[in-house]
Amino acid sequence: MRTRVFVFVALLCTIWNDRLLSQVKTRAERTNYVETSRYEDVVTFLNALAKGSPLVHSTTFGYTFEGRPLPLAVVGRVRNATAQAVRSSGKLRVYIQANIHAGEVEGKEAAQMLVRDIASGKHPQWLDSMILLIAPIFNADGNERVSLTNRGPQNGPIGGMGIRANAQGLNINRDNMKLDTPEARSMVKLLNDYDPHIMIDLHTTDGSRHAYHLTWEIPNNPSADPNITRFARNDWMSAVTDVIQKKYGWALHSYGDVEGQLPERVWRTVEDLPRYTHNYWGLRNRFGILSETYSYLTFEERTTTVSRFLEEILNFAQSSASRIRKLTEDADIRSLVGEKLSLRSGFKRSDKKQEILMGETTEEINPFSGQTMLRRLDVRKPEQMWLETTFESTESERVPSAYYIPASLTAAIECLRAHGIRLERLDQPAMLSLEEFRIDSTQVASQTFERHQERTATGQYGPVERTLPAGTYRVLMKQPLARLAFYLIEPRSNDGLLTWNVLDDALNNSQTYPILRTHN
Ligand SMILES: [Zn+2]
Repeated sequence: MRTRVFVFVALLCTIWNDRLLSQVKTRAERTNYVETSRYEDVVTFLNALAKGSPLVHSTTFGYTFEGRPLPLAVVGRVRNATAQAVRSSGKLRVYIQANIHAGEVEGKEAAQMLVRDIASGKHPQWLDSMILLIAPIFNADGNERVSLTNRGPQNGPIGGMGIRANAQGLNINRDNMKLDTPEARSMVKLLNDYDPHIMIDLHTTDGSRHAYHLTWEIPNNPSADPNITRFARNDWMSAVTDVIQKKYGWALHSYGDVEGQLPERVWRTVEDLPRYTHNYWGLRNRFGILSETYSYLTFEERTTTVSRFLEEILNFAQSSASRIRKLTEDADIRSLVGEKLSLRSGFKRSDKKQEILMGETTEEINPFSGQTMLRRLDVRKPEQMWLETTFESTESERVPSAYYIPASLTAAIECLRAHGIRLERLDQPAMLSLEEFRIDSTQVASQTFERHQERTATGQYGPVERTLPAGTYRVLMKQPLARLAFYLIEPRSNDGLLTWNVLDDALNNSQTYPILRTHN
């Protein structure tokens, strides 16, 4: 009898607590979607949930340029927020990142609401197989630079939103290889510490007036593991697209902007460069998902849209948890040595035209700024277009067994280490048969991009015998991050150390590339 009373009281307490937690509101909800959450709102919100629920642990994972600690909610049946506790749980780890572009704010609201949903008892089955790592406000400095006019025709929040760049004026979503921002470095450190299997990056579209509520992208650089990308595209995204169409009647599609002139228009995705977050995650043998909510839905509709997308992504992840984990583990273990891997690529056009749903908008006035915004109309205008949604390699190299880096290249060594790539130091001189890249020409781009003039070099490898001094660093390519190491180190890479001027001093007046490789 006493046990029964106890169980009953405990149940009542849980229901009461769940109800209390469901009353914790985001700033967007409190202002009826006129405003989006500021940094302090997010911190207060996550702390309130962490206080009320043992399923939520509130921590931080690094710093912005202006020194704001980056909030992270660790959500699941885990004893604390440390990477060690999360990894030793053996569960699937899912990282959800919002607000990298701080005018694209609905992901930040949906991410907070997701934490609250779980804290107040929703989706308990997810926690059987998963732990979520939720970073609602990644570009926190940009988020605080609110203006009513920041995102032009985007449909709200009419009380203003932050900016695209971080406080250095850099786009964090182009920084994943060079790591010039503390935000990207913080994220990479989180990946090295927690090693999530799935990463999701939440954005809002910028351009085309199509009829899709949301467009998605997966890593599509040809150097990414094909088993992972095939499963992500053909199984996962197609299942999520179908279920959202069935449940809500909304169309989703892989990401694209409309290019060219009628009747030969093209639906073209974003570049496949790993400077973009989702592509970077792919080069780390992980599932990266880019989510782009349609800009001309209202702020509240966008928040609902991305919430539902996340819900279906997580439903699928939960039902396929062991498959997803296995695919990432297999990719980590499989040796790439001797295989050809892509360094440059181009769009692969579809064999025939396919249907794309174009949309229409009407104009609305933001009552506070007086500026024109666009509002989605519920119209679908099918158009046959070429698809350029995948890439094919135009240049590749055979993956060596090791690279050798002179100890003097301190910036290159630091960058590789920050990415989590394993390096070892030769403790005595070594006589080796190597390959050296002989430079025919090298140029920098005439235009500055993200404070760099991107460099390219042409040339070819030739054999050399060398005695390398003690202190030289060796990167063995039988390691989980071999794809990333390859893409950073190879001189012909379109997004590597050479591209981002890390090796400019060493290349000055030199006929050869300073990093050597061996196939032995
Ligand atoms: Zn964006």
